[in-house]
Amino acid sequence: MARIIMLGTSAALPDADHNNTYMLLRGDNDHILIDCAGCPLQTLHRAGVNLDQLDYLIVTHRHPDHIYGVPALALGLWLKGRARPLYVFGERESLAAISALLEIFRSEEWPLFFPLFYHEVPLQPHTLILETDEFRVISSPAKHLVPTLALRLENKRSGRIIVYSSDTEPCDNVIELARGAHILIHEATGNGPGHSSSAQAAMIARASGVQELILIHLPTSGASLEVWRQEAAQIFQGPVHLADDLAEYEF
Ligand SMILES: [Zn+2]
Ligand SMILES: [Zn+2]
Repeated sequence: MARIIMLGTSAALPDADHNNTYMLLRGDNDHILIDCAGCPLQTLHRAGVNLDQLDYLIVTHRHPDHIYGVPALALGLWLKGRARPLYVFGERESLAAISALLEIFRSEEWPLFFPLFYHEVPLQPHTLILETDEFRVISSPAKHLVPTLALRLENKRSGRIIVYSSDTEPCDNVIELARGAHILIHEATGNGPGHSSSAQAAMIARASGVQELILIHLPTSGASLEVWRQEAAQIFQGPVHLADDLAEYEF
């Protein structure tokens, strides 16, 4: 059974128990990393992930809390002897940021550094960006402070669909992307600009007709997250979950 594993769940300010938001789509063979924060190799090991199966990285936008782990991921995979390419998907500014980060660390001088193949994703609604034996990934632009991709993750074997909003204000593109999905993983950082409250996330879930809502990119100070969840539950009738680090959901 495929799973989506929450590798981190906090907004830009992590705390002792919550890393910045990123996640792994783990299939029987295909593994897709979505954003890359924290100390990725340690977290992937804690989640029991076989790094040899990780071939794809999708970055949703260029904010540091979503991409600062990429050089550490590249270094770790290289030290473990990786030779196969890593395929990296993102919009233009995100790919430029990753490329610049690796250039700062002079990855081109690492002996036998494996290739990274970059695939630029256009900022167009319902763009098919990746299809493997197990998964299909479709993106639409979200509404954030920089160009950002929301993702629709389709499991071709189970028929299940998860949509991840990434960082966004309430956005029609996310509603449309989530139509027919089982789970919406929506950010709930707090009122914008560029972000959403838990109540706004619930309105998006209700409007799109999904079955379950998972709140992520959560504040780590000030707010009571249970109150946050209850505010969403008053608006959205299905189950509302607070994402937690290393939680897994069947997909
Ligand atoms: Zn963020
Ligand atoms: Zn952001």
